[in-house]
Amino acid sequence: MSLPEFDFHAPGSVDEACRMLAEYGPKAKIFAGGTDLMLDMRRRRILPENVISIPGIEELKTLDLSSGMLKIGSCVTIARIVKSKEVAGKWGALCAGGKALGSCLVRNLATVGGNIASARPAADLPPPLMVYGASLVLKKTSAERVVSIDHFFTGTGATVMAPDEILTEIRLSEPPPHSGAGYLNLGIRNACDINILNVASYVALDGPGGAIKDARIVMGCVAPTHVRVLSAENLLLGEKPSEALFERAGEAAMNAATPRGSAYSRASAEYKKDMVKELTVRTLGMALREALGPAS
Ligand SMILES: Cc1cc2nc3c(=O)[nH]c(=O)nc-3n(C[C@H](O)[C@H](O)[C@H](O)COP(=O)(O)OP(=O)(O)OC[C@H]3O[C@@H](n4cnc5c(N)ncnc54)[C@H](O)[C@@H]3O)c2cc1C
Repeated sequence: MSLPEFDFHAPGSVDEACRMLAEYGPKAKIFAGGTDLMLDMRRRRILPENVISIPGIEELKTLDLSSGMLKIGSCVTIARIVKSKEVAGKWGALCAGGKALGSCLVRNLATVGGNIASARPAADLPPPLMVYGASLVLKKTSAERVVSIDHFFTGTGATVMAPDEILTEIRLSEPPPHSGAGYLNLGIRNACDINILNVASYVALDGPGGAIKDARIVMGCVAPTHVRVLSAENLLLGEKPSEALFERAGEAAMNAATPRGSAYSRASAEYKKDMVKELTVRTLGMALREALGPAS
């Protein structure tokens, strides 16, 4: 199917892109890797009169670790995240999310910003980004604001971003010592499949072999947005990690999940709920092993 007609713009800086967005407002759409946008335009789900292409903007392509924090420019591709030894070393669950996304060809084009901004509940990066407590930098001509990713998604395909704002950067603090995270996704095929379910978990221990002092569990595909499972997180806090504890957390996550089963989602609600428990227990195990270090 051919693309509808549109005017193409290639700004050279974020400021120029912001000015264009301010001028065209809801009649414009940002083009990053185009892997979601082009399909939506071909299928006439989105019909922007102006397409503003941003992958040529250098300042959006930096992957910076210099400030003790990981700063990911929104146009950094998934392939770069997957290949980065620094990301794999400290934010392994994010790297796992990247590896699960699409195929090699898709990962070479698709951007981190696009995966977040498209706000699909099955997307691979939001769960790991949420368990690492990511912040998102949103810019427009007159202002910049930083929002927690926990408050970014408002519904399927919907976010707090205004039509004249650009997501420019994703910020992650360095995980503390004795912490770890895990990510797992479940689909029908291994690649290029829409997830049936995805879960990320994070735990931080109060010293080697200590109690759990911080925990985050995020699941996707069970609601219109990715959701944190506060009931399961609270159950873990202050407790010594054990298989029995993780089983209870898995059950709490299962009880909190409200998936819709349908032909489209390719799995029944009951199956998804069972798998929420399984993936929660497994990702908590992955997180604990990382928190305990190589000797565990
Ligand atoms: C064959 C195939 C397989 C796929 N498999 C997966 C998969 O396994 N897992 C998965 O999560 N996704 C998958 N996707 C979806 C897609 O590749 C990802 O969501 C990708 O990360 C989107 O990034 P992009 O740069 O291509 O975004 P684009 O298509 O360029 O943009 C997506 C949306 O976000 C907006 N946008 C993009 N960047 C910004 C920004 N910086 N500021 C404001 N708005 C912005 C755009 O206007 C558009 O509405 C797949 C897609 C295809 C075609």
